[in-house]
Amino acid sequence: MKPSHAPVPITRRRFIGAAAAALAVSPRRVLAAEAPPRGRRLGVALVGLGSYSEGHLGPALRLSEHCALTGVVTGDRAKGERWAREYGFPTRNIFGYDTMARMAGSPEIDAAYVVTPNGLHAQHCVAAAKAGKHVICEKPMAVSVAECDAIIAACRSAGVRLTVGYRLRYERHYAEFARIARDGDFGAFMRIEGANGFEMGTPDAAESHWRTSKKLAGGGPLMDMGVYVIQAACMAKVEAAPVAVTAAFGPVTRPSLFSEVEESLKWTMEFADGAVATCRATYAETVSTFRAEAAHGWARLDEPAFFYDDLVLTTSRGAVALPNVNHQVAQLDGMAVEILTGKPSLAPGEMGRRDIAVVEAIYAAAAGGGRSLVKA
Ligand code: NAD
Repeated sequence: MKPSHAPVPITRRRFIGAAAAALAVSPRRVLAAEAPPRGRRLGVALVGLGSYSEGHLGPALRLSEHCALTGVVTGDRAKGERWAREYGFPTRNIFGYDTMARMAGSPEIDAAYVVTPNGLHAQHCVAAAKAGKHVICEKPMAVSVAECDAIIAACRSAGVRLTVGYRLRYERHYAEFARIARDGDFGAFMRIEGANGFEMGTPDAAESHWRTSKKLAGGGPLMDMGVYVIQAACMAKVEAAPVAVTAAFGPVTRPSLFSEVEESLKWTMEFADGAVATCRATYAETVSTFRAEAAHGWARLDEPAFFYDDLVLTTSRGAVALPNVNHQVAQLDGMAVEILTGKPSLAPGEMGRRDIAVVEAIYAAAAGGGRSLVKA
């Protein structure tokens, strides 16, 4: 199927209305979204060709039904040329981070997908919006609420869509978990537990390069892995944000790696109805668990709860039989359908901002040795 490159018409009012409605939208309805017009694909430029782009998003763009890779932004021209050859887009659609404004002249590019270190998301998302491109921003959306606000404002004033790369939002096990929460199958979830982490390699390991830098990562495992737990807990609470948090940093066992960001962190989130989520994020061990309990039953994403592809949802009624999908393909196709048909996003910028507001409160609580209120 050949891509069509007509720009997607979207008015400012429609964008704001869609974003406001998005936190309440039904995942089932959006997963079953109608297809875009025949032959219309979303042209995507990947901004940053690191391990996630190379290992997951690029391959997913090949398999995607509704997207095509039509450009890249990279600091390495030769790498961009290799991608252009392999993915069949014109070399005029290779840009540098300082020449992103020129994407405005590339009608084949509808959306820019920002996959750079967290501390650069705001700069690259704002540049993409100013070039008139819809923005997909990897998680975490940015390293502060102020940066999230800047991204949201830039997308609003450019009249482009903004969505956060929360792949699990487009995945069926989490969609069913969200439905269970929303429909109250077991009552309201009141006790939630989640942990997510991996053992960080040596300082020269690829994953260590920017993830241990405060400036580039914004924080440690809370930013990188903890956002998944915050996401799932808010899903359990039908997208309510917690009202308060408590938090404590874990011990630093490898000071050569963790001089700028935490090695591990434990926190709780208190919700307005009295529900409590007990959570943990770590770079000291591999862990990936999530469970939510209500008065009349429970639901659990079996370990590993947040990894790619092979998820299992079990409830107090038994295993829930659902097909596994390639997360990145499902996410890219889901987001393309949203943008091409004007549907509200399952992962709008406002959701990314909510999660960073929680992260800020958790860091404040950990630093202050106590409890912090979450600012809306
Ligand atoms: P990576 O280090 O492999 O790639 C980062 C890319 O950014 C590289 O191409 C690098 O050259 C580029 N870059 C541009 N300016 C840079 C600078 N000043 N310093 C360092 N790199 C710079 O990282 P990654 O693992 O691909 O992660 C990128 C983003 O994707 C992060 O925000 C991460 O949280 C997110 N991510 C998401 C998932 C997911 O499942 N949704 C998985 C992995 C990573």
